[in-house]
Amino acid sequence: MNLIESRDYFRSTLKNTYDTPAIDYYFKVLIQAFFKWEATIIGLQPRKILTKTELDQLMDAAKRLLASEPLQYITGSAHFCNLEFKVNPAVLIPRPETEELVEWIRETQLQTSKMTLLEVGTGSGCIAVSLGVYFPNAEIHALDIDTAAIEIAVTNADRHSAAINFHSCDFLTLSDWEFPLDRIVSNPPYISPEEKQEMQPNVMDYEPHRALFVPADNPLLFYRKILDFAQQHLKTEGELFFEINPKFLEAMRSLILSYKNYHIYERNDIFGKTRMMRLIKTV
Ligand code: GLN
Repeated sequence: MNLIESRDYFRSTLKNTYDTPAIDYYFKVLIQAFFKWEATIIGLQPRKILTKTELDQLMDAAKRLLASEPLQYITGSAHFCNLEFKVNPAVLIPRPETEELVEWIRETQLQTSKMTLLEVGTGSGCIAVSLGVYFPNAEIHALDIDTAAIEIAVTNADRHSAAINFHSCDFLTLSDWEFPLDRIVSNPPYISPEEKQEMQPNVMDYEPHRALFVPADNPLLFYRKILDFAQQHLKTEGELFFEINPKFLEAMRSLILSYKNYHIYERNDIFGKTRMMRLIKTV
């Protein structure tokens, strides 16, 4: 089978699941990821014959896409803040909303020459590593409960030469911490079980539930623990940056107000939802 025939086969396999532009985009990304071929090869060498191994790899990918597996898990790669990150099902695929959180941190901290920063729940490491690239003088710590996630995050930090101190631990039970912090950043799990029915199979069937879901009776548990932790370990005038669930905006505001020592700033994501918070500690 040649290239154009395999692309047509790919289209016909996936036509009931995705539209043609999406299928063609997947095909291009896959031939680039698997064989390092530029997308222009389709126009330049449409009759290029594929080996059996190449064909098998593409057909296997088609099967996985048909079962709603995210493209990023098939290629093992995702883009975030103009950097490429290794991903696998141990970690969430980095989201565009989270890029906005990182951009907000970047914009507001440009004048900060030195800082010690902690990221809680780093997953693929996309937040910590991007910040490491933006702020090479910062001392950055990142933690996660999942050792498989930490492994991916370490690979990503190495890939981008970011010096991150990774800690493999359960933040919810963490008691000792020896580094006074200027900034804490987190995109913790924040989806309540009732929201499951609105979620797509590519997320529900493939992404790690531990990184997404919180108990229905305690949806803000990570934020509460971070705020308690910050009472002790975040310096005065230190700042917290959160990605939040817009559905819990009111609850988040009341939780933060109960601590009585924060200025609260909020920011909408590209979809117009209040998705981010910046808190500045006053005392
Ligand atoms: N924004 C992600 C989603 O909608 C969830 C990330 C999270 O739970 N922190 O899938």
